[in-house]
Amino acid sequence: MRPTSLRLAAPLVALLAVAPLAAPLAAQTFPTSWDPAILKRPDVRTALEHLERGFPRQVDEWIAIAEMPGKSTHEQQRGAYVRAAMEREGLRVSIDSIGNVTGVRKGTGGGPTVVFAAHLDIVHALETNLKVRRAGDTLHAPGIFDNSASVANMLATIRALNAAKLVTKGDLVFVGTVQEELGLKGMEYWLQHNPRPDLLIAMDGGLGPVAYGALGIYWTRYVFTSAGSHTVTSRGKPTPVKALAEAIDRIYQLQFGALPDGAVINIGQVHGGVIFNGIPQELYFTVDLRSPNPILLDSLDRTIGRIAREAADRAKVGIRVEVEQKNGAGGTSAQLAGARAHPLVQTTIDIQQALGIRVGAPGAAQAVATGSTDANVGVVRKIPSIAIGRAYGGNQHTLSEWADWPSALPASKMVVLLAVTFGDGVRTVSAPVVP
Ligand SMILES: [Zn+2]
Repeated sequence: MRPTSLRLAAPLVALLAVAPLAAPLAAQTFPTSWDPAILKRPDVRTALEHLERGFPRQVDEWIAIAEMPGKSTHEQQRGAYVRAAMEREGLRVSIDSIGNVTGVRKGTGGGPTVVFAAHLDIVHALETNLKVRRAGDTLHAPGIFDNSASVANMLATIRALNAAKLVTKGDLVFVGTVQEELGLKGMEYWLQHNPRPDLLIAMDGGLGPVAYGALGIYWTRYVFTSAGSHTVTSRGKPTPVKALAEAIDRIYQLQFGALPDGAVINIGQVHGGVIFNGIPQELYFTVDLRSPNPILLDSLDRTIGRIAREAADRAKVGIRVEVEQKNGAGGTSAQLAGARAHPLVQTTIDIQQALGIRVGAPGAAQAVATGSTDANVGVVRKIPSIAIGRAYGGNQHTLSEWADWPSALPASKMVVLLAVTFGDGVRTVSAPVVP
């Protein structure tokens, strides 16, 4: 937690005067409700107008970024582009050893550090045709939505803040992260190697409810092995096929609650064997296990592991367990009541409404206790963290991915307003908030 020199509400000051210093102090105090009067501030208006005027250029830049190769671990060209753009805007820019690009827009001091993270990588193979096709309000290309849109939004936001000479007390830290699609590896590395921020805002996902939770995701490969045999001599010999079949059958019989508060298990790959006429020497299946509940996630993970080992023992074959990713869960909606109450969530809801961003069907939840973005890494560390949308769009992670380009404008305005509201400190502070 950072020391704070912010103006504190009188009752809290009184409390602090008698509280032992060892007691953790709320790192920052934030407005409990968002004041739309901020929209009338001349510097804020200038920033928003700059976004509007520059929007055609923003869309062009978005397309240019989307057409750069970006498969996870191959984000270098995108990273170099973002670095140059940030440097032109006078940010203090660095690239860490994993490839994350960080641009710091210094505050005047005494305010919170607010991190905005947009992942640079896409899931599509290097040889994929990334050429963007524009049809009316829609852009079509693999990766156009997830997450090239957010990268362009981030750069446009930085330019708008600078054009308006907008001053914040806290540092605004803009990060182009890498390897998000490989299990949030870039953000995980970033948080391990940088001072803990006060707020983390992942720019990822479609416009919709504010995501303040973290869906835990475990990817595991269960590999069964045997000595193999020609078919003619195979009768009665151990075969990994039996182990694999039994394990998968038992896993699908497991009983547990469904999402959003329960869990889901998907066996996405079953591989092995190359010939008709032999016992395979190696087979495997993969498990994609997800839950927001850390206890349920770990217990299901252990149960699946036990089932796989028992199946291997019964079939008298070997087993090897390979963990591909293990991203922790943030908690169920009940467990995350405190995170939901953080002003970061309600303020973002208020801003979305002020900008006319619709989040779904009428009456749909404005915030959800889930998420599968760079914000997860903050949530599990108890850093107030959310994910915000970049535009409307769909078919993520497919070749028919698309995005509605006009909606990137309100999405970018939201980033400016979040930066001003939280980076500016506490001009409307009303009550202390302990995250
Ligand atoms: Zn993404």
